[in-house]
Amino acid sequence: MSQEFDLIVIGAGSGGIASANRAASYGATVALVAEGPLGGTCVNVGCVPKKLLWNSANFAASQELAHSYGFAGERWQFDWGLQKQRRDAYIERLHGRYTEGLRTNGVQLFRGHGRLAGSGQVQVDDTLLRAPKILLATGGSPIWPEIPGAELGIDSDGFFALTERPQRVSIVGAGYIAVEIAGIFRALGSDVSLVMRRRHFLHNFEPMLREHLLEMMQLQGINLLPQRQVTQLTRESDGLRLHFAQGDYLGGQDAVLWAIGRRPQTGDLGLASVGLETDPEGYIAVDRYQNTAVPGIYAVGDITRAPALTPVAIAAGRRLADRLFGGQSERYLDTSLTPTVVFSHPPIATVGMTELEARERYGDSEVRCYQSRFVPLLRAFAAEPERTAMKLITVGQEEKIVGLHAIGDGVDELLQGFAVALRMGARKRDFDDTIAIHPTSAEEFVTMR
Ligand code: FAD
Ligand code: NDP
Repeated sequence: MSQEFDLIVIGAGSGGIASANRAASYGATVALVAEGPLGGTCVNVGCVPKKLLWNSANFAASQELAHSYGFAGERWQFDWGLQKQRRDAYIERLHGRYTEGLRTNGVQLFRGHGRLAGSGQVQVDDTLLRAPKILLATGGSPIWPEIPGAELGIDSDGFFALTERPQRVSIVGAGYIAVEIAGIFRALGSDVSLVMRRRHFLHNFEPMLREHLLEMMQLQGINLLPQRQVTQLTRESDGLRLHFAQGDYLGGQDAVLWAIGRRPQTGDLGLASVGLETDPEGYIAVDRYQNTAVPGIYAVGDITRAPALTPVAIAAGRRLADRLFGGQSERYLDTSLTPTVVFSHPPIATVGMTELEARERYGDSEVRCYQSRFVPLLRAFAAEPERTAMKLITVGQEEKIVGLHAIGDGVDELLQGFAVALRMGARKRDFDDTIAIHPTSAEEFVTMR
């Protein structure tokens, strides 16, 4: 059996669904091939369940703070298992919304593993789909270390599948996922160790942010183990034991979580059937229009080298559909000022260049930075108050703002508006001329000297 479409999308995650719906809204006939639950990583084992757990952790952490304001009484108990049921039910509702959205837009859904099968063709089990245009949006999956005993650990998918909270937990890694999960577990009461191969985490971030987070994590009692390379994981009578190349070990763990990065899911996509190659790490090269090296085949999201973020995958997918079916021949996604939030405790918000990047690009004499570190009013009564830190990177006589970085309570919600300002080319003077909102933390950005 074979069926003809204008567009076939392989992968029903952030990028694939967004692109399929947008293309269909222009009247294109679209087939969407979905292996696994609708919504992909973000909805099922990423942003959504993570943010729900992060919110839970914030409730737990705010109890201490509430005490400092004069609230008294028993500490709330968090029922991880109950919340997991509610999370699953919420995600199930999202699946329903996606199904309905696709149906309303006329996108035809094919369940199964999609594989390219020669020019303009995709095989899904017994069904052959044909289209002149094919979009690859198959996302990524967690990397596991190739060491003895690795299977005794879990990855981020396993984290979301937990039905109870492990008391003693080690997280191996130093990126977004490692610091986010470490913060969640700690705030909810686990004894957390964070095992990093370098001296620090969040390697490519503005150093001010990671140094501040490091300090806050120490304050929260997270056991930081820098410069450790795990060589083996074993199960002993007192729990899991991580063995390090440095000769020491960490034992007595109830869970070990690998958070050492993700790899693109391009291994079983039939790329050879159309002559498409990946780079050595499995990524598919695209130009700014999402064109691959093979005409008529496009790629978006985590299988490309674009920032691995849901809004980037969605925006790339929609712009591609605008270009292919919406008559907007020059439409593409510019990722140069991609704002991003790390949902650590406290959160990090960042857009644009680090100070180092600005100095390398524009030269030392052109760069001027403004910085502020303060105890937010929210923490006025706290015994050991967590501080907030902010930094602006400006360049040239005009002091154009090329980087904006913040860590502290609420910075996750303040970044979006500032990202608009940077995109519009804001200068320091524009910030200075903006009337502050008092008392907030965000006002620091318009009052820095
Ligand atoms: P995905 O969303 O991964 O979707 C790909 C889909 O394709 C999957 O459903 C997969 O099953 C399917 N598929 C794969 N191969 C085939 C095939 N051959 N045939 C058919 N279907 C196939 N980003 C943020 O912006 N904010 C966050 O807070 C955030 N938190 C995250 C937390 C975690 C723990 C993780 C892991 C990621 C997080 N991300 C976050 C990143 C975000 O989830 C991804 O960048 C985003 O989901 C990528 O979208 P995508 O469309 O490229 O792929
Ligand atoms: P990241 O790329 O952020 O980090 C991977 C980390 O793994 C790096 O810190 C790296 O360390 C470390 N690492 C790699 N190999 C090893 C090894 N063999 N042993 C020890 N450590 C190792 O990946 P994540 O998996 O955390 O997240 C994947 C992507 O998903 C992120 O980059 C981000 O784009 C997205 N994401 C976004 C979120 C958000 O928007 N809030 C939340 C979660 C994920 P080193 O630095 O030393 O090289």
